[in-house]
Amino acid sequence: MNFSWTDHETGVRERIAAVVKPLSDELIRTFEQMPLPDLKRTVASIQESLAEAGGFVVGSDPESATQGIAESIHLGVLARASVSLFLTVRATAEFAGLVACFGDASMRAKILDPLAKGRTIGAVGLSELGEEAEIGPAHVTREGDSYRLTGRKCFVTNGPIADWVAVFAHLEGHDAICLVGPDQQGVSSSARSELMGLNGIAISDLAFDEVLVPRDHLLGPFDSTAARSWYQLSADLSIAVAACGLMERTVHAASEHARHHRRGGKEIFARQEVRFKLAEMLTLSQTADLLTSRAAWARAAQSPDARALIRCAKVFAVENAEKVAGMALQITAGAGYRKGSFCERAYRDAKGLALAGTAVEVSRMAIADEILERY
Ligand SMILES: Cc1cc2nc3c(=O)[nH]c(=O)nc-3n(C[C@H](O)[C@H](O)[C@H](O)COP(=O)(O)OP(=O)(O)OC[C@H]3O[C@@H](n4cnc5c(N)ncnc54)[C@H](O)[C@@H]3O)c2cc1C
Repeated sequence: MNFSWTDHETGVRERIAAVVKPLSDELIRTFEQMPLPDLKRTVASIQESLAEAGGFVVGSDPESATQGIAESIHLGVLARASVSLFLTVRATAEFAGLVACFGDASMRAKILDPLAKGRTIGAVGLSELGEEAEIGPAHVTREGDSYRLTGRKCFVTNGPIADWVAVFAHLEGHDAICLVGPDQQGVSSSARSELMGLNGIAISDLAFDEVLVPRDHLLGPFDSTAARSWYQLSADLSIAVAACGLMERTVHAASEHARHHRRGGKEIFARQEVRFKLAEMLTLSQTADLLTSRAAWARAAQSPDARALIRCAKVFAVENAEKVAGMALQITAGAGYRKGSFCERAYRDAKGLALAGTAVEVSRMAIADEILERY
C-alpha cells in the first residue's frame, strides 16, 4: 500500500500552496464585504493563478474533466485557508466539467478555453425552493431552432458574479442544461444572500423569465440522470474536501489555544479532558481526509465504488466537521465564542457545509441502495 503522492502531485500541491500563502485571513475576510465587480475580478485572478499552478484542472473531454474533479483533492490547501474561496473556485470547475462531459465539440471549443485559464467564473443552478420544485420546476420549451427557459434557482454559489450559469431544467420530461449569461434578457439575480456562515461565497437566487437559449447553448435533453448525478457527485466531493480542510485548520486552532492558554496554573493542554478532545478531533479529521482521498482516487480511476465512496466521504466529513468545530469551541471557550474568532466562524461554516450539496439523509438512502446493488 502506498499513501504518498507522486512527484507530479507533490509539485502541484506545492505550487498551489505558493498561490494560497499570500491569502491571509484578513485579506480573505475582505471578500465578504467587497463590491461584486471587485470580487469578480479578485476571484478570476485567484483562479488564473491556480490554473497556472495546475490546481484548477478543467478537462476538455469527459475523462479529463472527471479526472480534474478528482484532483480537487489537491486544492485542500485552499480549503484550509478559506472554505468559502475553495467552494467558489470549485463551482467554476463544476460548471466547466458539465460542459466538458456533456457538451459537444463546438460548445467545448467555444466555452472551455477561458474557463481552463481561470479567466471566467461559472455557476450551476440545480436547487429550487421546495414549493417551486414541487409545483413548477424550471423548464425549457422549444421555439423553432432555439429554446425558452423559465424558472428559479436558489442558493447558487457564484450567482451574482458568474459569467456563465448552467441551469438544470426539464425539457419534455427529460433533464436538460441551459447555459446562460447574466446579461441575457430575462436573467436576474437577487442581491448577494446574507448567510449564517460561509460568508466569503457570493450566493444568490437566480430567476429566468422566458430566456432565449440558442441550440448550441443547450446540453441534452438526456435520457438518463447521468448529468445530474455527475454534478451532484462532483459537488459532494468538493464539499467533503472543504470539510476536511476546515477540520484540519480547526484542530490546529484548538491545539494552539490549548498550548498557550493557562488555567489553574497550567496550560490547558495538560488536562486530560482537553487532550482527549484533541485526540478525537485529530482522529476524525484524519479519517475524513483518508476517506475523501480514497473517494477522489476511486473517481479518478473510474471505479464503480466511486459513487458510494463519495457519498460516504461527504456524510462523514460534514457531520464530523460540525463535531470537530463544536469541540474546538469547547476548548477555546470564551476566546472561541467571541464573534469573528476562527472557531466561531468554523462552527458556522461547518453547519453550512452540512446543508450544502446532497442532503445527508438522501445520501444515506443512496448509500444503502449502493449496498443492496453492489456490496
Ligand atoms: C453554502 C451553500 C451553497 C450552495 N450552492 C449551491 C449551488 O451552487 N447550486 C445549487 O443548485 N444549490 C446550491 N445549494 C443548495 C443545496 O445544494 C441544497 O439543495 C439546499 O441547501 C437544500 O435546501 P432546502 O431548504 O431546499 O432543503 P430541502 O431539500 O427542502 O430539505 C429540507 C430537509 O428535509 C430533508 N430531506 C429532503 N429530502 C429528503 C428525503 N428525500 N429524505 C429524507 N429527508 C429529506 C433534508 O435533509 C433537510 O433536513 C447550496 C447550499 C448551501 C448551503
